[in-house]
Amino acid sequence: MPTLLFLPLVAGLISVITWWWVERIYRRPLKRLISHLDDLSISGQGERTADSQIIKGRLTERLAERIDLLNDTNQQLQEQAIKDPLTGLGNRRLLEQRLDIALPLSRRWMHAVSALMIDVDHFKDYNDLYGHQAGDDCLVEIANVLRDTFRRDTDIVVRLGGEEFLVVLLDTGEDEAMRLAEAMRGMLQAVGIEHQASGTADVVTVSIGVAITPSGVPVSLDDIIATADAGLYACKEAGRNQVLSRAVSRTDTLKNSAIA
Ligand code: GH3
Ligand code: MG
Ligand code: MG
Repeated sequence: MPTLLFLPLVAGLISVITWWWVERIYRRPLKRLISHLDDLSISGQGERTADSQIIKGRLTERLAERIDLLNDTNQQLQEQAIKDPLTGLGNRRLLEQRLDIALPLSRRWMHAVSALMIDVDHFKDYNDLYGHQAGDDCLVEIANVLRDTFRRDTDIVVRLGGEEFLVVLLDTGEDEAMRLAEAMRGMLQAVGIEHQASGTADVVTVSIGVAITPSGVPVSLDDIIATADAGLYACKEAGRNQVLSRAVSRTDTLKNSAIA
């Protein structure tokens, strides 16, 4: 009987010991491992979130840098497309862009428009005597004189090509245009770029044909250039180093009023 009572006690004891052993050896470390993994997983997620935020930030920065670079390049290309690379003045494209807006406005506001076609005298002889590089330097110097003379924001100063420059003066009538043209011609002569091969003077000189557009008359760029060219041709015929004006002819304006 005592044996019968003792057996369940022993069995109970064995069970408790087994439970404690299993708990101690397996479950507790397992629970700790799970809890640790949970912790890791939570902090890992945090790190991943933080990492992804950093990566996102860097990508945005790089993207913004790229967009800035693209905008700068785009702006540079646009500027180059309307600039004469030798002198830094505008080119014919710039002239067309500006006049597309300025000519219709000038007509509407009844403003006079004047244009100066400026051509270097005996420039081929200058190149032949001093060399092409000296010729380029001379063109740059002339461009500087043009910049110094025509300083209003609305003045359009371009190199048309070769040794020819065009200046368009908005809201400017004949008297002021002639005064400025003479000032430019005189200033270049005063700069005194030696030209021993010129048949006109011992320094570089220019001839300037001035086109005068009456107020409110519709004209095109071609009209202006043709008229200024006619004035320039007359200067060359009359001995160079001078300024002569011509009014845009009625025939030209009538022809172009159909287009304007
Ligand atoms: P004119 O007094 O009648 O205007 O005579 P010109 O010799 O100035 O005119 P012409 O048209 O006979 O010669 C123009 C010269 O301009 C020919 C060319 O060698 C020179 N030229 C054109 N473009 C450039 C350039 O970009 N650089 C240099 N150095 N010379 C140029
Ligand atoms: Mg020429
Ligand atoms: Mg010339």
